[in-house]
Amino acid sequence: LVALSGVNKHYGALHVLQDIDLEIARGEVVVLIGPSGSGKSTLCRTINRLETIDSGTITVDGRPLPAEGRELAKLRAEVGMVFQSFNLFAHKTVLENVVLAQVKVRGIPKAEAEQTARELLERVGVGAQAEKFPAQLSGGQQQRVAIARALAMKPKVMLFDEPTSALDPEMVNEVLEVMRSLAAEGMTMVVVTHEMGFARSAANRVLFMADGRIVEQNTPEAFFTAPRTDRAKDFLSKIL
Ligand code: ATP
Ligand code: MG
Repeated sequence: LVALSGVNKHYGALHVLQDIDLEIARGEVVVLIGPSGSGKSTLCRTINRLETIDSGTITVDGRPLPAEGRELAKLRAEVGMVFQSFNLFAHKTVLENVVLAQVKVRGIPKAEAEQTARELLERVGVGAQAEKFPAQLSGGQQQRVAIARALAMKPKVMLFDEPTSALDPEMVNEVLEVMRSLAAEGMTMVVVTHEMGFARSAANRVLFMADGRIVEQNTPEAFFTAPRTDRAKDFLSKIL
């Protein structure tokens, strides 16, 4: 569903993505881990073209990423992204946050968009908060709204960049639960996270990045019990 081939990216002298080859199958859940600065966020962001690349190709559902305009907006809808900071519109209600892009990008009639929004808010457990403003919600609730907003675009793949890192510990699980259920329903997902419990229980594959490269990849079970590279062993010894 998503394919990266020979992808390279630099920030000035920094070679932040180095010869990345990666294929993600439909329904696959890939967890991306690695030290700070290894390029995890950058890799995620290239997949919906929040970052451009210097060389290589990226395709989503067989099509190269569009460079701009309406096609790019459509791609961003198809490749949902959830960030550490929830990025909700502060001056719009929860419901409006989930309605807006459906109407603007997908051209859905307002009444239908609202219906979809209410269903999705219900599904992520914040149906009762629809008329509130983001600041009136807990971090965990806001993040679930952000997930609902991305889902409203009927994405083919969802990217999560440390979706629980900004949350108080007691709110982490409610967000992970929503992600687990999405995974169980067959959503294709790329997840950058430090939640190794989630990686073990929900991932089909763990990718370990260091210095802009995918250094190692395996099933969670094999990766966590028998990492092959010294970099991965060292990383795991620090976090587990
Ligand atoms: P973290 O775990 O801390 O989130 P990461 O693996 O997500 O790290 P990236 O955010 O992808 O790492 O950054 C990779 C490298 O690129 C880092 O050295 C970072 O400082 C650098 N970098 C990221 N964004 C930019 C930018 N816009 N301009 C210049 N350098 C950048
Ligand atoms: Mg990051």
